[in-house]
Amino acid sequence: MKIWKCEVCGYLHDGEEAPEKCPKCGAPRDKFSQLSSEATELVAKSRRTNDIHMEIAALLGRVLALSEEGSSINLDPGCKAIFEKSKAAAASLQQQIKAELAAHMNKGKWG
Ligand SMILES: [Zn+2]
Repeated sequence: MKIWKCEVCGYLHDGEEAPEKCPKCGAPRDKFSQLSSEATELVAKSRRTNDIHMEIAALLGRVLALSEEGSSINLDPGCKAIFEKSKAAAASLQQQIKAELAAHMNKGKWG
């Protein structure tokens, strides 16, 4: 995999060669430079990590919905307590994931 970076705006392009011009800022091809293999590997890891975060956040959304339903059925205090705990834990993890993803974007790690 080859990745090209627009030196003007930081846009990343995957491909054998740099695009004719940057789709984001319009800079010409000669403003692109190829990322080193270390940087390319880092971008790949970062993309996969972000995908995993997104998938886990979606699963936590499902946990939240199920916990909500279980809690509202309210079969007995033991069940309700567990559903309330899973609701709180899922909500907390979701917030942490959102904060982490926001931090990645601010650092430009969003490959
Ligand atoms: Zn650009």
